[in-house]
Amino acid sequence: MAKLYFRHGTVGSAKTLNLLAVAHNYERQGKRIVVIKPGFDDRYGEKDVASRAGLTREAHMVIGDGDRIEIEDFDGVHCVLVDEVQFFHPQHIDQLRDVVDQKRVPVICYGLRSDFRTQLFPGSRRLLELADSIEEVKTTCHQCNSKAIFNLKSIGGVAYLDGPSQQVGGDETFQPVCSVHFTEQLSLGSYEELGGRSGTSDSQREQDMELA
Ligand SMILES: [Zn+2]
Repeated sequence: MAKLYFRHGTVGSAKTLNLLAVAHNYERQGKRIVVIKPGFDDRYGEKDVASRAGLTREAHMVIGDGDRIEIEDFDGVHCVLVDEVQFFHPQHIDQLRDVVDQKRVPVICYGLRSDFRTQLFPGSRRLLELADSIEEVKTTCHQCNSKAIFNLKSIGGVAYLDGPSQQVGGDETFQPVCSVHFTEQLSLGSYEELGGRSGTSDSQREQDMELA
């Protein structure tokens, strides 16, 4: 039975590397895959799906905000792999659910569960609601050996819950951390002024997009 999978992890947990390995295994067996990514994650070039470990391939489909994921595009496909799924709209997740159910093809989605303010991304929330299988891609905290569950935004060594939009992304700006070190690092920065973990809003989705 085909399933909708959500494999979530923090920044730096090798999610894309995992995706590329799954793609390689299907293709080695002569099976057809489709790799999808959101249109506005252009850190590595519009079509590139790139892991920090250095491996890259091109996505078959780049889905923009207003695009619809059409079921007919998945005839004869053995597996669909989705990168940076947190940047999709909830309706795209519903469309992926339809691909699973109507084409009987597994759809494996990789992405962040929450943003740097510990809030669920809307697309990730919808996946938690609709997925058959929810798995965690684990990595350790940047500061200790506990499992990382949050993404700490850090600029010049100072942690932020808010602040200017950055185009950079990557390891210098976002770190995987445990809850203890998330709170500790923010208490040294702007955490209190911003009302702690909950002082956020949907209107900051633009800023979330930098986090991947
Ligand atoms: Zn820690």
